[in-house]
Amino acid sequence: MRVKLWDLIKERLQTELSESEYKFFEKAKASDLEPDHVMRIICDNDYVLNIMQKVFDVKLRRILMELGYPMVKLVYEVRKDEKEDEKKDPVIEVRDVNVEASRYGLNSKYTFENFVTGKNNEMAYTAARAVAHAPGSEYNPFFIYGGVGLGKTHLLHAIGNDILKRRRNTKILLITTEELISKIVEAIQKRKMNEFRSKIRSFEILLIDDIHFLAGADFSQEALFHIFNSFYNEKKQVVFTADRAPWELDNIAERLVDRFSWGLVTDIKPPEYETRLAILKLKAEERGLEVPNDVLELIAKNVKKNVRLLESCIIKLYALQSTKNIKINLAIAQKVLSDIFSKSQSSDLEDVLITVSEYYNLPKTEIMSKKQKKELVHARQVSMFIMKNVLNMSIVEIARFFGKDHTTVLHAIEKIENLLDKDEKLKNEILEIEKMLKRV
Ligand code: ADP
Ligand code: MG
Repeated sequence: MRVKLWDLIKERLQTELSESEYKFFEKAKASDLEPDHVMRIICDNDYVLNIMQKVFDVKLRRILMELGYPMVKLVYEVRKDEKEDEKKDPVIEVRDVNVEASRYGLNSKYTFENFVTGKNNEMAYTAARAVAHAPGSEYNPFFIYGGVGLGKTHLLHAIGNDILKRRRNTKILLITTEELISKIVEAIQKRKMNEFRSKIRSFEILLIDDIHFLAGADFSQEALFHIFNSFYNEKKQVVFTADRAPWELDNIAERLVDRFSWGLVTDIKPPEYETRLAILKLKAEERGLEVPNDVLELIAKNVKKNVRLLESCIIKLYALQSTKNIKINLAIAQKVLSDIFSKSQSSDLEDVLITVSEYYNLPKTEIMSKKQKKELVHARQVSMFIMKNVLNMSIVEIARFFGKDHTTVLHAIEKIENLLDKDEKLKNEILEIEKMLKRV
């Protein structure tokens, strides 16, 4: 079976976008690949074309990379036979928080049924089910936090979808924090804040994704504070996700942070090996893709911290098999997935940097910079030492990460090694950082 590249892209988009965003793609068509790697995307009208270029182009190019087509050039065009009366696309209306709609922003693909559980996410999953079962009662608000690509957004949508299954007309609003901020800013500019507040309050369930992006947005924090209070007082459920715990959030007003932990706070950690295997099996099965066990094991061993990357591996194999008719085996998988594997590794390096920066209370960017301030040099050298001696990274990789040559890295590591024998304080520092790293 030959599958069209555009269909694969659309399938991917459907999982990544909310339904209102995906509407832009429902009608869009695309040419097959032309000889010079050009793919033409035919949009309904200028409005859609503009959105494609400004909002979705980066995402489309990333997906093409993941599917193994990094060379493709995207060209956007408006359909020739466009009729005047089609110029005003209904999509425009869907983009607004619509009071009439019973739900907004939910993606029906994310459910509890297709969420794989393990030790890493059991608590969050069980609590999410409880929340969906009796919204607004026990765990309000519900706050889920954890690293990138670990299923926070998935669980948030699953809560909404599960509630809808039981009560079809529940008014649910699922909104990303970025979208929320832009709506608030827009409302302020148009002097329609009261209207906006009452629109939001007309929903029964409020699901807000990535609340850490509220940092520094003082006016939006103020608005959310009032919105939250009214939901809470009316016993209407609010769920938040974030990349860190409430007490670790920076630049968010104390009283708001305080409310985040009034109900239940749970975290999601990276999945363990067995869970990673189970996720891979499910993702392959969902696509009707047969992947040999040794390939699944190879992926599970190499991609540890991010479920989205596990999924990317399966998608890439699927693209290979369905568009190029190549049968998957260990050697091929090793070859085509190596860039995803190294991306996943580089997040280990990133972890060390984050942890060291936390420990010494120094900004990551400063540690990565060329500045020679004593404390920065020290943090930099400790990072390199840990990368080499704890994580077994190669000197070449570490050098590439810091943008330095490998003799500099070697010298830094040797310096720490020599100091370690006599410097009790340094020894403790490194032990502490290692301990912190194990938590990641
Ligand atoms: P986050 O919001 O934490 O960054 P997402 O919820 O967007 O992560 O998850 C990334 C991708 O991985 C999604 O496609 C999601 O369906 C998938 N995923 C994450 N965790 C699981 C899981 N436990 N079972 C199945 N799929 C998962
Ligand atoms: Mg997310």
